[in-house]
Amino acid sequence: MATFKAIVIDKTPAGQTVGLVDFDERNLMEGDVTVRVEWSTLNYKDGLALTGKAPVVRRFPMIAGIDLAGTVESSACPGWKAGDKVVLNGWGLGETHLGGYAQKARVKGDWLVRLPATMSAREAMAIGTAGYTAMLAVMALERAGIAPARGPIIVTGAAGGVGSVAVALLAKLGYAVIASTGRPAEAAYLKGLGAAEVIERKELTGPARPLGKERWAGGIDAVGSTTLANVLSMTRYGGAVAACGLAGGMDLPTSVAPFILRGVSLIGIDSVMCPLALRQEAWRRLATDLDRTKIAAMTAEIGLADVIEAGTRIGAGAVRGRIVVKIG
Ligand code: NDP
Repeated sequence: MATFKAIVIDKTPAGQTVGLVDFDERNLMEGDVTVRVEWSTLNYKDGLALTGKAPVVRRFPMIAGIDLAGTVESSACPGWKAGDKVVLNGWGLGETHLGGYAQKARVKGDWLVRLPATMSAREAMAIGTAGYTAMLAVMALERAGIAPARGPIIVTGAAGGVGSVAVALLAKLGYAVIASTGRPAEAAYLKGLGAAEVIERKELTGPARPLGKERWAGGIDAVGSTTLANVLSMTRYGGAVAACGLAGGMDLPTSVAPFILRGVSLIGIDSVMCPLALRQEAWRRLATDLDRTKIAAMTAEIGLADVIEAGTRIGAGAVRGRIVVKIG
């Protein structure tokens, strides 16, 4: 019997269990490409799945992990052959399809993106879903006509994964970045990533006025709730805000005023079911528009056995930057 190491979440009458186990290869799900997973990563959603705080997992037993990077071992998909280096983000990995915290994965070839030639599998996972989502958000702002000359961009949840990569990306592209954080002690870290200004999270957590002082041309919001409502109410005329997270809550207590009186756009970002062409564009851009020395400096490395404990920390908002998981 061939087995491999995996972090498996299961459901018992007593509640959720999670552990590092030897997984029988015969229990892998259907797919036309088998990947030797070399690196994975820890995202907010992985924390929710590992702790069972939210119903992320919809099939049991489930191998956790919404991301993977590695090498194709075998393929029945015309686009892929053994030896190809690949990245996979989302598509239900770790939710409905066995995920990335495992030495092996069997997946659909249509879900895979080729690893950019200049990027290692570890670098791709240091970026991970968090960083790829930050890139999707930047691309969405660009499509809405936002450019550095239009004014500053606010990033909320700035010291987290999506936020940190968004700050680094925007700074390299020439934007003046205002980083909002609940951890003022991370101000030097955020300035090191390229933030021009750091503001305290509490400035944006009270109830939002319909319209506030026009402070920024756009925003990337990882927090939701009253934070997003305040970001919208302080967005300049014709600006745009990309909403990608709910770290502060799923509600959105706003009014139509920013939309109908200032022509502000609110753009939704989804990384999970994002079409392939947009993913490929995002990974191309990540290879060129991101200062990877900054990503390396904000990335901590753990092994498969450490994933469960780290999942608890990210759920508590206590992780700075990114965490990569060494699998191979
Ligand atoms: P992290 O935990 O790394 O970052 C979240 C950050 O949000 C924290 O570091 C903290 O930043 C801030 N935060 C945490 N709790 C609160 C709170 N109660 N109120 C206000 N701010 C808070 O997670 P990720 O960066 O991986 O993910 C961020 C969000 O984006 C999550 O909600 C996640 O689900 C979502 N997401 C969505 C995706 C999509 O496809 N739409 C893809 C990836 C992520 P600070 O300390 O600086 O204030």
